[in-house]
Amino acid sequence: MPERADVVIVGAGFAGLAAAMALREAGIDDVVVIERAASVGGTWRDNTYPGVACDVPSHLYEFANHPHPDWSGVFARGDEIRTYLENVAAVERIAPLLNTPMLDAAWEDGTWRVRTGGSHPGVLAASTLLLACGRLTEPKIPEVPGLESFPGPIFHSARWDHDADLRGARVAVIGTGATAVQLVPELAKVAEVTLFQRTPAWIVPRDDRPYSPAERAAFATDPALLARLRDELYLEGEARFASRSGDRDAASAARAAALDHLAAQVPDRALRRALTPDYAFGCKRVLLSDAFYPALASGAVRLEASALAAVHASTLVAAGGARHEADAVVLATGFESTEQPYAQLVRGETGTLADHWSRGMTSFGSTVVAGFPNMFVLDGPNASLGHNSSVLMIEAQAAYAARTLARHAGVRRVDPAAEAAYSAEIDAAAASTPWIAGGCRNWYVDERSGRLTLLWPGTVDAFRAKLDTDGGEFLPVTIERGAR
Ligand code: NAP
Repeated sequence: MPERADVVIVGAGFAGLAAAMALREAGIDDVVVIERAASVGGTWRDNTYPGVACDVPSHLYEFANHPHPDWSGVFARGDEIRTYLENVAAVERIAPLLNTPMLDAAWEDGTWRVRTGGSHPGVLAASTLLLACGRLTEPKIPEVPGLESFPGPIFHSARWDHDADLRGARVAVIGTGATAVQLVPELAKVAEVTLFQRTPAWIVPRDDRPYSPAERAAFATDPALLARLRDELYLEGEARFASRSGDRDAASAARAAALDHLAAQVPDRALRRALTPDYAFGCKRVLLSDAFYPALASGAVRLEASALAAVHASTLVAAGGARHEADAVVLATGFESTEQPYAQLVRGETGTLADHWSRGMTSFGSTVVAGFPNMFVLDGPNASLGHNSSVLMIEAQAAYAARTLARHAGVRRVDPAAEAAYSAEIDAAAASTPWIAGGCRNWYVDERSGRLTLLWPGTVDAFRAKLDTDGGEFLPVTIERGAR
């Protein structure tokens, strides 16, 4: 491992790879990427549950500079995306130091000192620290009394235990988010599934289909065709912002479409009632599935329409009082989103990032943070999306970081007043949206402050405009020259 680099990138998922490519494009070559796992891929390496796929169209869920004509269908499977990321890293000759976790990082005397462990123990000094650690990486394990008493296999959806033989087993799945609606229909093909639903989701048709060999061949030979498709998908995504963000007409049309979907797929009135959300459309991530309702309507999956409240050995007790025997438990219970574990590891001018974010994540431009000079954070505060491809956000942030570094040598500090103003802008934009006022619990909002800290409350166009100030100067930042 080198002792010094211009930039250390932490993480080799979509964000880390995007950053490495953007920096190289900007002529910044002295870059080290560290990755705590044994391979690249982030989310798409970690999530291997049955049915794992992406609910953003494949041709928009890819790097703009690496179009992939060969996606199997409108929506890509998880393993395809993982392979895609491995191929991009190989083609771009991005070779992260694997099995190399950041133990901590501190800003000292104008330099980041990143302490690493695993396969490359040591200290790496760098002018710039770029955090690309992901936002949905740490499984959230619910605090359910007696959970530890469960005698059989019990694991989180993002840590799938492929050694557990679930064929013919009674499997309880906890949770009804984007993960559960993908895995439940697949699991029900081999196991007897009981699904614990605390809150039903808004679900709209997925309309997936495979691309034919002829279509794939056309994509491969006609880049303009692929570019047009990307443009269409982008605009469709941007158009979805209205329904997700609370525009009254758009939300009511989308809500009606979701209710029609439910009615068409679930004839039983009582089951339908149990599956009908009572909060605003868009408040939680809107899910895409054509297989979830049929799995319940056919009786292949038993719905327990209340939370898992307690576990007594192999007996699972629902909040509604029912008891269910299970041989295995799958926790599709989501991720620690608002309090990112990496924040505790990073120490800036006056304390850790976790201290700075003790009331919720804040930033300027969703990408830089006051008190943390020469640091960029991708896919962190207010950078995720519910209506379009988050790869677009990552690319905008990566380009912004690269441009800033290429233009300004020296120490770059964010003006705290600029960060406060940006946070106030986010709060104002979010205040009347379903994410804040829609009457649900979601992973976009920090319970400590009630602030929207994960989601970007605007379109991708608006985000790009924010970061691409076209003179390119990112300037609520003080530049001290010569310290690079
Ligand atoms: P999630 O959306 O946070 O869902 C967690 C689920 O667990 C919720 O339904 C929650 O209920 C439930 N839960 C927690 N404790 C429970 C308990 N004691 N009893 C019953 N239910 C309980 O997590 P996720 O499904 O893993 O998805 C997280 C995010 O990952 C998604 O929003 C999405 O951004 C991303 N994702 C994307 C894709 C994709 O295709 N692009 C696929 C999977 C995931 P409440 O709703 O009541 O809190």
